[in-house]
Amino acid sequence: MKIAILPGDGIGPEIVAQAVKVLNVLGESFEMETAPVGGAGYEASGHPLPDATLKLAKEADAVLFGAVGDWKYDTLERPLRPEQAILGLRKNLGLFGNLRPAILYPELANASTLKPEIVSGLDILIVRELTGDIYFGQPRGVRECPDGPFKGQREGFDTMRYAEGEIRRIAHVAFQAAQKRDKRLTSVDKANVLETFQFWKDIVTDVHKEYPDVALDHMYVDNAAMQLVRAPKKFDVIVTGNMFGDILSDAAAMLTGSIGMLPSASLDANNKGLYEPSHGSAPDIAGKGIANPLATILSAAMMLRYSLNKQEQANRIENAVKKVLAQGLRTVDIYEEGTTKVGTEEMGNAVVKALA
Ligand code: NAD
Repeated sequence: MKIAILPGDGIGPEIVAQAVKVLNVLGESFEMETAPVGGAGYEASGHPLPDATLKLAKEADAVLFGAVGDWKYDTLERPLRPEQAILGLRKNLGLFGNLRPAILYPELANASTLKPEIVSGLDILIVRELTGDIYFGQPRGVRECPDGPFKGQREGFDTMRYAEGEIRRIAHVAFQAAQKRDKRLTSVDKANVLETFQFWKDIVTDVHKEYPDVALDHMYVDNAAMQLVRAPKKFDVIVTGNMFGDILSDAAAMLTGSIGMLPSASLDANNKGLYEPSHGSAPDIAGKGIANPLATILSAAMMLRYSLNKQEQANRIENAVKKVLAQGLRTVDIYEEGTTKVGTEEMGNAVVKALA
């Protein structure tokens, strides 16, 4: 199995190196090839997503991605900015299914803004459709308002739309993810107001017939937002559209309070995926050896589970992470009094040791 390793910029190379170290001690024979992306791609060949990098990502069975971006590229024209590499990869690899777990290890319960008893042990997964919805629907723009009380004024407008096949494929991703967890799926919509999301609800209900082992319920997005902060542990897997997923997944991530801990995956129709930490390239701490590598290491675990079909190895990594947290090891972002502060490499080494 071939893994494309794309470290990127800022803390990307430091944290990806730790995940590679972890993959190397699993006793599997992965072929790993590294290529520049983002600002590093621009420096190497004048484009954030060099042709050779895209070719490697296409050939590989999975992509492990660090992070891209640095303030020094902010003056480049938009198509050459590092962040364009992520959009290019999503588009070229057809990555429509975004999986974002929000996990709060009991040892880190104090990091959350919610009361520990509400969030301690939280383990939910948000499946967000990534390439459709009002973010991409046409037509859109600014025009002269054609009717109503504001007729003749300028108005901004966008189009919310979802094709049946688009809903079916993300529903399959979500049901299959639920099968690998607690087998409960909540589909979040706004069917009481939006035609698009009544249609969404009908199609998800239809796809459910193929997954009788998964319990499905439906929830309006406003209620889902409320329940996420009231009783987040009641959820197992949530599936929703691009815009609702954008908002809910950030809210869920912040429930955990620790940005350096959250992995993510973006999948295509065949479960090939790109795996990356939810955080960015953190230029403010790059090169200091203090970044938390756990989100990237946990992204590698997701890669094993969802793209490489190595459940047991994924569990091993996740258990090793739990073990180092139980040992009291903390990078600066999750440090609190009474624990032991460690750097990026020490944390990576501790996970490797815990695996043994
Ligand atoms: P960021 O996530 O990089 O950093 C936000 C804050 O969290 C910073 O204080 C940073 O030091 C801290 N932080 C982030 N990851 C950490 C880790 N692993 N360990 C410890 N602390 C960590 O977001 P930002 O500062 O808004 O953006 C910086 C750059 O990252 C920008 O160029 C932005 O475009 C880019 N970005 C890239 C991605 C991506 O590659 N997928 C995502 C978001 C932002």
